[in-house]
Amino acid sequence: MTDIINNPEILNINQNNQNQIHTGNINSNLNKKLEENSCCCSEKRIWIKNAFMIYITLIYILAPVILTDIFIIYRFSKTYKKIIFYILIHITLIYILICLFNVATTKPGYQENNFTLTQEEFNQINPKIKIDNEFYPLKYCYTCNIIREARTFHCKECKRCIKKHDHHCPFVNNCIGKENYWKFFHFIISVLVFSIVILIISIIFIIDEGLKGSFIKIIINIAIIIAAVCGILSMISFIFQHIYYVSNNLTTREIIKDNMKKELVDKGCKNNWKNSLNDNYKDEFDIKYEELIEQLKNQRQNINNI
Ligand SMILES: [Zn+2]
Ligand SMILES: [Zn+2]
Repeated sequence: MTDIINNPEILNINQNNQNQIHTGNINSNLNKKLEENSCCCSEKRIWIKNAFMIYITLIYILAPVILTDIFIIYRFSKTYKKIIFYILIHITLIYILICLFNVATTKPGYQENNFTLTQEEFNQINPKIKIDNEFYPLKYCYTCNIIREARTFHCKECKRCIKKHDHHCPFVNNCIGKENYWKFFHFIISVLVFSIVILIISIIFIIDEGLKGSFIKIIINIAIIIAAVCGILSMISFIFQHIYYVSNNLTTREIIKDNMKKELVDKGCKNNWKNSLNDNYKDEFDIKYEELIEQLKNQRQNINNI
């Protein structure tokens, strides 16, 4: 028990506040908030409300395909090349759209409201977890009214606490967290493949047919090549960045904020990859957080039974 919090006696919340916990007298605003947060309809509403950027992403994907279809593939003089490249680019389009759909619609891993409490109760409990002889104070989410895991962060766009929060990606209109990280990784690989396919088709076109046609057509050909090269370079750098994060078991947020000690979470490169591929893997922070919540639940139950 002392591993979980530095002062277990504080769980014996004083008499003045026992009624608040005993009767579960959480105010009605809090109840409303919790209902909103746990309602899947509310999640859908938030998703639809913020979906504007995903249409931009779709334009970014569809525009190069349409331009390549019209200004490059259609202009190949050999019919068999037209057919091969039409099939290739549209298979790649289906692949990237499936990856986009997967990452946009998969829950990133919401921190469950399995033990709710008021801010006042939280301040009295002041929970901490002990890892490697050091205490880590847990934070309180003022919106979800829950104790947050150490690696959990509240996303303002999603209006939920996200486990092992990496970042909120506006292009997929979703948070990237513990349970959809690999779908995001797969999506950026699909963008790389997509860009490579467009570049290959463009280069073959220039080799076969040369830069010919009107000034506008030449400009569009060059623009497609530049966009594909930019896509390839940015995705390669993005993929290497995330390979580094996974190898060290750190998130984008933790790297930027520099708020996580590497030695606490780093279990060696091989184990980090193995663990991060498993959505159900629980690290020490998860295990001790769950122990703490269980302990607090029992404490509340005991008070209720008195
Ligand atoms: Zn929250
Ligand atoms: Zn989010």
